[in-house]
Amino acid sequence: MSIEVKELTKTYKQQKALDCISFTTSSNHIIGFLGPNGAGKSTTMKTLTGILPVEQGSCKINGVDITANPLLTKKSIGYLPENNPLYTDMYVQEILHFEASLHKLTNSKQRIAEVIMLTGLKDEQHKKIAQLSKGYKQRVGLALAIIHDPQVLILDEPTTGLDPNQIIEIRTLIQQLAINKTVFLSTHIMQEVEAICQEVIIIHKGQIKDHFLAEDRNVKY
Ligand code: ADP
Ligand code: ADP
Repeated sequence: MSIEVKELTKTYKQQKALDCISFTTSSNHIIGFLGPNGAGKSTTMKTLTGILPVEQGSCKINGVDITANPLLTKKSIGYLPENNPLYTDMYVQEILHFEASLHKLTNSKQRIAEVIMLTGLKDEQHKKIAQLSKGYKQRVGLALAIIHDPQVLILDEPTTGLDPNQIIEIRTLIQQLAINKTVFLSTHIMQEVEAICQEVIIIHKGQIKDHFLAEDRNVKY
């Protein structure tokens, strides 16, 4: 599934966060959304997930306008928010059951077991979130994002705040989860893009500065 953003503008009171941005991604790539803090990455992602309303411009997932069909969009998209806010007092299993119930999954028991295996949470499933390392919290965040088997994953700074080993583990996990999915991942780190992205979109001060396939650039970023 492709992500198509057209002439999207967002202003917070006085602050213009997105200044008429447009881009269309390929399907089934890991797309890096690269830019410094404040560039507009989270705002774009929150708009794509429906958290922020589309005020000016449009967003489509696989050709379907997200405003016209919010339910379909919810089904198609899995989202990992920045800083991954999780209820620290909940058990891993419990939080997954809760998320499955939000999506009204019919085969939730089986799907939760599957997702636990996919995200490497087997030994942590009976622990509380508070007991987990940052890397494992991020695995829980990814497990929540994929529970309804969406075809598009929107991951906001998935490796920020992790130590170098955790970064490598989470990047590897993202690559595993990305099979047959479109993954739109924000980062302010060049190496992240270089390590796992097949496509790159650069945003700066609310404007798209570049968009290219990694294979078309033989220069190092
Ligand atoms: P990024 O994710 O690239 O760090 P953001 O989308 O979070 O960028 O922010 C883009 C700009 O919009 C920044 O200048 C930020 O301060 C501003 N911004 C984000 N959220 C709000 C808000 N709720 N109110 C006012 N300004 C905001
Ligand atoms: P980031 O993308 O850096 O995580 P967010 O844009 O998500 O930051 O902002 C975190 C919180 O602070 C959000 O509730 C956001 O609405 C608010 N916020 C961010 N920038 C501003 C700003 N310039 N003025 C007011 N609120 C802001």
